[in-house]
This record gives sequence, structure tokens and C-alpha cells, in this order.
Amino acid sequence: MSRFWNDRTKGIQPYVPGEQPEDPSAWVKINTNENPYPPSPRVVEAILSEMGGKQSLSGANLRLYPSAEAAPFLDAVCERYGLKRSQVFAGNGSDEILAFRFMAFWDKNRPVISPAVTYSFYPVYASIFDIPYRAIPMKNDIEVDCDAIAVQKGGVVLANPNAPTSIALPLDDIRRILEAHRDDVVLVDEAYVDYGGESAIGLITEFDNLLVVRTLSKSYSLAGMRIGFAAGNPELIEGLRRMKDSFNSYTIDRLAIVAGAAAILDRDYFDRTREMVLATRERTAEKLRELGFAMPASSTNFLFVTHPEHSAKDIFSFLKEKKILVRHFNTAGIENYLRITIGTDEEMDRLLSVLKEFIVG
Ligand code: PMP
Repeated sequence: MSRFWNDRTKGIQPYVPGEQPEDPSAWVKINTNENPYPPSPRVVEAILSEMGGKQSLSGANLRLYPSAEAAPFLDAVCERYGLKRSQVFAGNGSDEILAFRFMAFWDKNRPVISPAVTYSFYPVYASIFDIPYRAIPMKNDIEVDCDAIAVQKGGVVLANPNAPTSIALPLDDIRRILEAHRDDVVLVDEAYVDYGGESAIGLITEFDNLLVVRTLSKSYSLAGMRIGFAAGNPELIEGLRRMKDSFNSYTIDRLAIVAGAAAILDRDYFDRTREMVLATRERTAEKLRELGFAMPASSTNFLFVTHPEHSAKDIFSFLKEKKILVRHFNTAGIENYLRITIGTDEEMDRLLSVLKEFIVG
């Protein structure tokens, strides 16, 4: 605590991101839902080209500010998802878009509701912008209670599929929530949708209260570049733009803009790496069940597992000793679960062999 901190700084409880070890290569790092595969080779080509091309690499373009609208990236998003430029917005990671969104659409008179077990950044944004935040209790500890969300008043923020539970809601449930909250903005965070959820992007023309947020950090392997986008009604998008241009006009740098565009447009590479993650997920889930773990069916690139005989905390510590990093949350109702990101087959084999050593001996 410093005497220079204002009340806002004193009062906040910052989000705690997953551990990023100094030397990730020394670890099996399956704690922050990164993609185990590199981005499309076209991403690297696009970055080199932006730097001046393989021959010169002068970096001269870096003298210039990037497009404030992240133009080439948003053009690629529109092409890939069949949207118009007035319906999309780009951000420095989807976290930044979430922050703009809390700033732009909610305030102390417009509360926000969210499932009690979800992405733990949402309550942090609510608190920093003084927005009342109501956490709706889960069903059976880990299931989103759509009926309870539909009857509550206020804006809604939902991760679908949800994190860290890995469970997806069907689009009909999202539609029901949108209909019940016609006069409130409903944010659907689709960070993991490419791994099994049904996207709500197709509903943005029908519902002017819907904003869908996506990230390129997971299925496009670009967590290190910090790129996300939002899709919604032009008036909502304009609200985000007003907020961005009152905060930082150039949120996405030149390299990220071209990298994001290249990644979005390389459909074959996207499909191939996604299939690899899905195959590894199913194989890992089966082997974990053989070791006695229980878990919901995952629609994400991670598994949310619990063991009837061993505490998640003990398993977490044992894995860490063996240089395997997974995620454990000290949150009521889920303290006995671990969130395990799907890595390569080799990484999952290492995880399974260490877990076998812990459980079977
Ligand atoms: N939403 C959810 C549900 C997430 O799990 C994450 C990743 N931590 C994000 C958003 C943020 O993603 P980004 O890297 O785009 O900021």
C-alpha cells in the first residue's frame, strides 16, 4: 500500500493470470490454454513482409503508426465470418475489448450479472468501473443456471463455452437469455468456441443487444500477439470505438494487424491444428477417466477434472514438482478441480505418466 494510491487503486483486487515461467521450455506448460502448435507459417511471412521483406528487414514501416481501425485485420475478420466493417471491432487481446465493453455499456445504475463460476476477470472489470456485479449460483457446482440468469435484471456477461468448466451452452439457451434481456447488453465471450461451441455471431443482426467477443489467442495460436475482435450491432460497435478513441487510438500494432489477418485467412492450417487438439483432447480424457478422474464433456481446448480420492491441490503440487504446470482455482465449489490445457500428444503422455505415478504408485 502506498500513500500515493488513490481509492480506486487501493480498492481493486487485480486479476491473477496463470503463471508464466521464465523458461517455459523447462516445463510442460498446460496452465493458460495456449495452443501447443505454432501459428500458421503465413503469419511469420506476413510479419517478415511488414518488416521490409526477407531481403532488407529494415523495419521502416515501424516508423509509422498502425491503422487505428486495425483495417487489414478487420477486413480479414469480415471475409472469414461474413460480417460488415460496421459490425466489427478489434482489440489488444479480447481482455481489452471486455474492458472497453464494461466502460461503454454498464455503470452503477446498470448492473451486470454473470455465472458465479466463470472467467475471473469479469468481476475485476466490474469493480474497477464501479459496476454492481451479481454472481448467479451454479447448478451442480459447475453448470450455468440459464433460468436464473433469464429472470434477473441487468446486463449479462457469459463465456460460452464457459471457463474454467469447459461446458458449452446450446445456442437456444443464449437466445433465451438475449430475449429475456432485450433492454440490456448481453456479452458472449467466445474465447473457446472453435473447440466445440455454437457461435452466436449469426444472431447479431437479430439481436441489437448482443456483442460477441473472440480471441486469436487460442485456436489461432497468437496469445503472444494480443489480438481479439468483437462482432455486434453497429451502434454497440460505435460505443466501443468511442471508448477506445478516448483511451488509446492505436491499440493494435502493425505486426499484430498483419499477423492476425494472415492467421484468420489460413483456413486449412486452422482446421488442421484444431483437429489435432480435438483428437488429443479425446484421447487424454479417456486416459484420465481410466485413472479415476471425472470431468464434464469439454467443448474447449482444456479439461476440467476432479478425482474422488485425491485433492486437486495435492495433485497440483505433485505435478508442479515434476515441472508440469496446470491451473488450480481456490474458488468455492471448484476447489477440487484442475484445469488442464490440451498440449501436444507428447506433453499429454508425460502428464498421464506422472498422474499414474501419483495415483497408482
Ligand atoms: N475470455 C476467456 C473466457 C478467457 O479464458 C481468456 C483467456 N485468459 C480471455 C477471454 C482473454 O483472451 P485474450 O488473450 O484475447 O485477452
